[in-house]
Amino acid sequence: MKRKIALIGSGFSSLAASSYLAKAGFDVHVFEKNKSLGGRARQLKKEGFTFDMGPSWYWMPDVFESFYNDFGKTTADLYQLERLDPGYQVVFGENDAIAIGDSLEKIYAVFEQEEAGSSAKLKRFMASAKENYDIAIKDLVYRPGLSPLELVTPTTVRKINYFLSNIKKDVYNQFESAKLRQILQFPVLFLGAKPSNTPSFYNFMNWADFGLGTWHPKNGMYRIVEGMVSIAASLGVTFHTEAAVEKIAVSSSGKAEGIVVNGKMIPADIVLSGADYHHTEQLLAPQHRAYSEAYWDKKVFAPSSLLFYIGLNKKVERVFHHNLFFDVDFDTHAAAIYDHPQWPEQPLFYANFPSVTDPSMAPEGKEACFLLIPIAPDIADTPELRAHYYELVMNRLESLTGQELKPHVAFKESFCVNDFIKDYNSYKGNAYGLANTLLQTAFLRPKLKSKKVNALYFTGQLTVPGPGVPPALISGKLVADLILKGV
Ligand SMILES: Cc1cc2nc3c(=O)[nH]c(=O)nc-3n(C[C@H](O)[C@H](O)[C@H](O)COP(=O)(O)OP(=O)(O)OC[C@H]3O[C@@H](n4cnc5c(N)ncnc54)[C@H](O)[C@@H]3O)c2cc1C
Repeated sequence: MKRKIALIGSGFSSLAASSYLAKAGFDVHVFEKNKSLGGRARQLKKEGFTFDMGPSWYWMPDVFESFYNDFGKTTADLYQLERLDPGYQVVFGENDAIAIGDSLEKIYAVFEQEEAGSSAKLKRFMASAKENYDIAIKDLVYRPGLSPLELVTPTTVRKINYFLSNIKKDVYNQFESAKLRQILQFPVLFLGAKPSNTPSFYNFMNWADFGLGTWHPKNGMYRIVEGMVSIAASLGVTFHTEAAVEKIAVSSSGKAEGIVVNGKMIPADIVLSGADYHHTEQLLAPQHRAYSEAYWDKKVFAPSSLLFYIGLNKKVERVFHHNLFFDVDFDTHAAAIYDHPQWPEQPLFYANFPSVTDPSMAPEGKEACFLLIPIAPDIADTPELRAHYYELVMNRLESLTGQELKPHVAFKESFCVNDFIKDYNSYKGNAYGLANTLLQTAFLRPKLKSKKVNALYFTGQLTVPGPGVPPALISGKLVADLILKGV
């Protein structure tokens, strides 16, 4: 008889883990509370428009490729992937934007134009970013976070300074232009913390950005979910949707022995959760929880977001697939997220127009638009606030791109803190997990294996290595390895 694994949630980490475990001979059952699979990467389809509701930036294509290779596939077997050119633009004001091209040469030229002498500095910066990327991918991110010694290798010892300084300091020391400083600090926002609170070592995200590029799977990010589900299903994984797990059952000897779904006990040899860690621990009796409320409350969480999914009845000009609107002060907005949580008066925002490069995302002559404002987790979320920020960012979008948009809105839907909590059981409504600060890196993150309950494991963006789709794939692999080794 195959040993049975009950897996909670169907985010990328769960999908990855399910395939490794099924391949190793386990009977894997995935229980997802929502109707569709893929966790935060759900897709909204309406009136011929398609919106990826969560992740939209496809970075680190090597990590996806390596995952697919583990199952005898390549990315090209699953979807058509294109490198975007430009990868994105950063808008600083009316007729004032910098586009990041699809090669280092193009990016060096743009830097030089903005600040004389900066291309040579960027070359040095990128050399260190690439070196750190190689170390991270080869030596660090595929470690399970069991002990601090995992971080100590001959190469990392040489890099100790990179853990003692931070991204903001490095960027400010090397570049004068306020615009270039903002561009270089953008990639670490994916890690969920302020650049001033993110160790310099994470400049490997700059290599992911400029060196490896921004890609798009034709028909949208949901193709990744479909590809991963098809691999898992082919290995025998069984998926149960609209199956919210209500409880994790623990035997008197302290071993997980199953889950309760819709009032029914489902026995399992091992329970693995890819749902939000804090929520998963709430499914246990208090004595079985490894982390206290005070522990979670002190942690730096990645921001939440206010999102709008907008169908536009016309093509939009002067925008690319990815657009960052950095026309207001970066530090003031960051302070409103991390230092004194409140709604930012003048937010930076991100606008995604996938139909600019992929006609399948909107009907002909129309544009799919998704807007994202990063905000502090756990702040008030009311219809009035959503309406206020919709007006505010749409007005900015109109004036910065020089065109009327609001009268052309066919429909709009919003998603914010309350939805993250309701739809994903997300702690404080965080959008993408636990930030990668120095004190929340590697072995300092919540553990993949429960410290209190045998045969109970965790994966996902609150564990190692951290937030983002590529890290979620890695997290699924790491936890599967631990389970297979019986650790
Ligand atoms: C708006 C947004 C934009 C983002 N942009 C990017 C991007 O551009 N690029 C990038 O790489 N990353 C991005 N991210 C981050 C990335 O999407 C996440 O880090 C990643 O998808 C997290 O995967 P996960 O496996 O940890 O879990 P999740 O996606 O959180 O999945 C957990 C699943 O568990 C389910 N669940 C919860 N409780 C239960 C229960 N009791 N029973 C059953 N199921 C349950 C949830 O419904 C959910 O489906 C973004 C995230 C968001 C929200």
